[in-house]
Amino acid sequence: MRVFLSRPDIGEREIALVNEVLRTPHLALGPKMVEFEEAVARYVGRRFGVAVNSGTSGLHLLVRAYGLGEGDEVITTPFSFIASSNAILYERALPVFADVEEATGNIDPARIEAAVTPRTRAILSVDAFGQPARLGEIREIARRHGLTVIEDACEAIGAEWQGVKAGNGAWCDAAVFAFYPNKQMTTGEGGMIVTDDPEVVALCRSMRNQGRREAVPGVSGGSAAAPASGTDGAPPDDLWLNHERLGYNYRLDELSAALGVAQMDRIEDLLAKRERVAALYRERLGGVEGVRLPWIAPGVTRMSWFVYVIQVGWHLREPERQSALRASVMRRLIDAGVQCRPYFTPIHLQPFYRERFGFRGGEFPVTEKLGRTSIAIPFHNHLTQGEVDYVGTVIEQAL
Ligand SMILES: *Cc1c(COP(=O)(O)O)cnc(C)c1O
Repeated sequence: MRVFLSRPDIGEREIALVNEVLRTPHLALGPKMVEFEEAVARYVGRRFGVAVNSGTSGLHLLVRAYGLGEGDEVITTPFSFIASSNAILYERALPVFADVEEATGNIDPARIEAAVTPRTRAILSVDAFGQPARLGEIREIARRHGLTVIEDACEAIGAEWQGVKAGNGAWCDAAVFAFYPNKQMTTGEGGMIVTDDPEVVALCRSMRNQGRREAVPGVSGGSAAAPASGTDGAPPDDLWLNHERLGYNYRLDELSAALGVAQMDRIEDLLAKRERVAALYRERLGGVEGVRLPWIAPGVTRMSWFVYVIQVGWHLREPERQSALRASVMRRLIDAGVQCRPYFTPIHLQPFYRERFGFRGGEFPVTEKLGRTSIAIPFHNHLTQGEVDYVGTVIEQAL
């Protein structure tokens, strides 16, 4: 049997909407992008959405929009996908890591507080695996110290902390979602910034579109800008060729946006299917000795399941034995045709970070322990009871 780690959930409507776009002259900067932005913003309870071509681009634009740069410190988590920290480095600001809580893998507010210095300008928090971090406490710490909060909600669309969605204005100045094919919903490649701040929106829309003044309608007298020449709605050339600031090409194309619109229309269905698979795993693996299942904090009123990450060997004392046990379980899974990943590998231990900052291990013990003991097992909407049973049996035998 072969069991895949992830698979997108694409229906007939997704295919139809993408096809419809192909029959129009608008393949970029068109109405689907605007529709997608409005749909995500509405869902999260935000005034604005800014569609971009990846979650990473969204994070980069926010770091720039908030003016974070050389000499600024941004407190963030080392237990994440590398993009959350790289976005800070793009602008030569310094990621200052704060260790996580073992139970959830999310950043520990007490360690954020301890990491604040006179140079701290922002907190870039991450909702790991679809579970919100302690968003209320993070917001409160930021308020006390006058810091900006950027929420990397790339793994957490639809998740709720104390009844309010991840990415909402209650929790952060701005947030980013990501739509790579392994996420809860996908646009192929893609991402979305959400915020209530029109200035940040204007900056991000301009920067995503080569620094042009107005990319799309929606903010302060914006005229629809436009795509390739020859399509209706294109502005005069002097506007299209006028670049007011350093910009990028971070635009989300119309095909991707159409896919996003279709996925957003059934986001609740997509999330419910993932919840179902999580429940199957909970049942199958719940009684297996030596397996620790994901633990959901009481403040999380809704988990948005992104991946299913179990831990093995956490109870062993020596790090070497933890790593060895995890390796042997993964070997058994792979030999049995079950895809799996060590997830996450701590950011500070990645070769580039070791080299640049001199990290050697031991700096963030909780993150490192999670990094040695965690395994992402197959998780997607099409997973069957039979596959879950099979994965469970292989893990049971490996232990
Ligand atoms: C997926 C993800 C991103 C963004 O990924 P892209 O591939 O650039 O869309 C950023 N941060 C985290 C934590 C993620 O999981």
